[in-house]
Amino acid sequence: ERARLRARTARSGEYFARASAVMPGGVPSQFQSAEPWPVYLERGAGAKVWDVDGNEYRDFHNGFGVMCVGHANPVIAAAVSARMALGTHFAAPTEGSIVVAEELRRRWGLPAWRFTNSGTESTMDAIHLARGSTGRDVIIKIEGTYHGHHDAVMVSVKPPPERMGPRSAPASVPYGDGFAPGTAAATRVVPFNDAAALEAALGEDVAGVIMEPAMMNVNIVPPVEGYLERVRELCSAAGAVLIFDEVKTGAAVAPGGATELYGVKPDVVCLAKAICGGLPGGAIGMTSALGELVAAGRVKQQGTFNGNPLTMAAAAVTLLDVLTDDAYARLHALNAKLMAECERVIAAYELPAHTVGMGSKGCVVMSTEPVLEYRDYLTKIHHELTDLAWLFHMNHGIFMTPGQDEEWTLSVLHTEADLQAYVDAFEAFAREVTD
Ligand code: PMP
Repeated sequence: ERARLRARTARSGEYFARASAVMPGGVPSQFQSAEPWPVYLERGAGAKVWDVDGNEYRDFHNGFGVMCVGHANPVIAAAVSARMALGTHFAAPTEGSIVVAEELRRRWGLPAWRFTNSGTESTMDAIHLARGSTGRDVIIKIEGTYHGHHDAVMVSVKPPPERMGPRSAPASVPYGDGFAPGTAAATRVVPFNDAAALEAALGEDVAGVIMEPAMMNVNIVPPVEGYLERVRELCSAAGAVLIFDEVKTGAAVAPGGATELYGVKPDVVCLAKAICGGLPGGAIGMTSALGELVAAGRVKQQGTFNGNPLTMAAAAVTLLDVLTDDAYARLHALNAKLMAECERVIAAYELPAHTVGMGSKGCVVMSTEPVLEYRDYLTKIHHELTDLAWLFHMNHGIFMTPGQDEEWTLSVLHTEADLQAYVDAFEAFAREVTD
């Protein structure tokens, strides 16, 4: 299948050679790398994208889950063009930022909001808030998760098995080089879905706990019953700030994200990706007490492009006009259908797999056992089969995340026909590997 992908995407190969001369690895960002090379895209419309060789794909990657609005959505395009004509950047506030903050407050129920330009900035600011409000240093994160590329969270992001230490005392492993000695030690690591482990790790030195309410980078790992409630209690009791990183779940799984879905309220929520309808941007929501620290300038939250009018124009129509309650209902129904169809294929071909999904997102996990944390992901998943499924889908016109561990994201412009194409490709894959 890899040779086939190579042949189908020959022009991407040429772009890759050209790009490699000016960009390390031939990509603008590490996560865009793929074997044998990244597929360079030319354009997108609705639920489809076209690569530079002219291949057409149904897009289930959707820009790592950003494009819930679909590609070149006319509503977003109109809002962005209208704003373009009025000027795109002043570094002075515009009404758009108020509109978006009001809508985020309505959705998440947190009173105070600020804007950022990415998920990385959102989680970085959240950690400043945790440390600034508590006067403590230590951050607790979940083993295996990714929260962006700033120092405090570049720890034990998919650590290699030989370095991660025992489950009872996971090592804090720096993610790549480039950190001052001791940086990783300020971040304590615990397994997901284990409240007792979190309880043991919490102490008077802990400023905050950052977690995704459902892990989204090792396929999808939902929280077990009662876990998030217990995490909330433990953080409150320990005086630690609870940060939900909803960069991925955010506007993609429910109007008020996983916070709404699971009914557990954090002190800070980090957003980015889907909330801005395809433009770069992010936001953080916080309690009034934390908002006061920001207002007073004690914890600095700032940036030239924060609340950029173009991004705000796109975010406003995304949240108010495109991702409406009806749109979520339709996305959920489509997603449930896709998962059910994949389950049918899994059963028919006795594939060692199961599906997991929430909102507009879902995935086929190549394991017959449930995956509850990163260590399960390492040991229980059939990784070669997952990789083969990605290649097979790419060769059959289904655009998917280049890793083996992500999920699909549906958009409001996906149709039944798009779903059918996915199921057909998946069924052809199942037939081939079980032959
Ligand atoms: N948090 C989570 C949960 C993410 O998935 C990501 C990106 N995949 C980030 C933070 C970082 O966001 P960004 O790439 O916009 O900096």
